[in-house]
Amino acid sequence: MLQLIIQGGDVVTPQGVAKCDVGIADEKIAAIAAPGTLEAQSAGRVIDAKDRIVMPGGIDPHVHLKHPWMLPDGTTLITAGPEHVGRAALHGGTTTFIDFAYWRQGQSALQAIEARDQDFVGKSPCDWAYHIMLHSEPPPQFADQLAEAIQAGYPTLKIFTTNILPSRSGRMIDFGDIWEAFQVLAREGGLGVIHAEDNDIVMHMYAKLIREDRVGFEHLAEVHNQLSEDLSFRRVLRLAESVPGTAIYMMHISAATGVSAVAEARRRGLPVYGETLHQYMLYSAADYKRPNGQIYHTYPSLKHEDDQRALWEGTREGVIHCIATDELCCALKDKTIGKRIDDTTGGNSGVEPRLGVMYTEMVVRRGYSLPQYVDLVSSNAAKIMGLYPKKGAIAVGSDADITILDPTRRGKVRAADLHETDYTPWEGHDIFAWPAVTILRGKIMVEDGNYFAGPSDGRYLKRKIAANILDGAAL
Ligand SMILES: [Zn+2]
Repeated sequence: MLQLIIQGGDVVTPQGVAKCDVGIADEKIAAIAAPGTLEAQSAGRVIDAKDRIVMPGGIDPHVHLKHPWMLPDGTTLITAGPEHVGRAALHGGTTTFIDFAYWRQGQSALQAIEARDQDFVGKSPCDWAYHIMLHSEPPPQFADQLAEAIQAGYPTLKIFTTNILPSRSGRMIDFGDIWEAFQVLAREGGLGVIHAEDNDIVMHMYAKLIREDRVGFEHLAEVHNQLSEDLSFRRVLRLAESVPGTAIYMMHISAATGVSAVAEARRRGLPVYGETLHQYMLYSAADYKRPNGQIYHTYPSLKHEDDQRALWEGTREGVIHCIATDELCCALKDKTIGKRIDDTTGGNSGVEPRLGVMYTEMVVRRGYSLPQYVDLVSSNAAKIMGLYPKKGAIAVGSDADITILDPTRRGKVRAADLHETDYTPWEGHDIFAWPAVTILRGKIMVEDGNYFAGPSDGRYLKRKIAANILDGAAL
């Protein structure tokens, strides 16, 4: 018996958009059928989705929840956790996010995951997973432990090639260790997820701007610049190419130089994938000059018009596959407390309006098809990160993670209407669609603004990267 039928919507399936009914049983999609052909009388509940878009739940492959951040006064801020941000995500139609487990010295990779579980288990209304985040000095047993973690269902490894800020050490991994890591990833079927910036260029620019007394955060694009992205992307990609079978995912591409580097690697057939942030597509370094301009920032930095153009082209040409948030949910006073190039907080509040804002910008304003839109906010993340077709698809057998968008909804994003924090970088942005219903594994989590989820509804997702993703430039 079907527990739920979603009737008569425009359903975005892997085969395209079709008017059909979707039947749900035992947390999964049990049937997709011509309108009116599923046994509605015996179903537990029927939702009328006429004139609505039925899509897979959003997937955000890059969030930082309950994340420690050092404030300029030396105290540590802990950002909002999965219970709070998950609630916002569900209101915005996102059902799954991928965060990070910090692999620190003295721990094994699996211990790092267990430690991070304390922040999530029983506390996340969304389904979730982690990228394992390596910190500067990999432990001696590093290769074996990484292999073990990949086989245990934790196949993505986050690597920084920069410390990002002069005050911070312990993030960047030297190239010898990255080389070792790539050998393990290639052998074991893992995927490197990379924050690539050229540390020499970045630190040089910090020193230069501090010397010149140009330390306001409005100069961040000069520090975390296009050349840095060019050099570091190419160095990482060349290293990956030297270890056959290394698959990598370049996080938050911000510059035209990064798009070109990924495009070239893919033309050579390498298994390389690209992510950007809606922040980078829609805001530029000019926005740093607006009131509270820090709210548009995340590291590396906002760039320029030609970079934005390249990012958009990248989404059309299959160079950029995912639009993520780099979510870091904190109050406006904390987001704007840093005023300098070397103390401004990265990360964004944006998980809730992501689907609505990107529908406006992609489908309404730029003529993207619904499948293109769904690929960029959901399906591609599932495919690259080893969650497909369990997640990211409306197909028989997939988890019943479904967002029903109302494309008649008109309005503006207002922080006061959201469930994130006391500001949003998307304040006043036009809305041409908004989720009316969000469903996670068959359970209605949000319906018409009412919240029915609980902190123990979410589940950890063990993953395995698909062979086609590892074998060459798929998608
Ligand atoms: Zn991040």
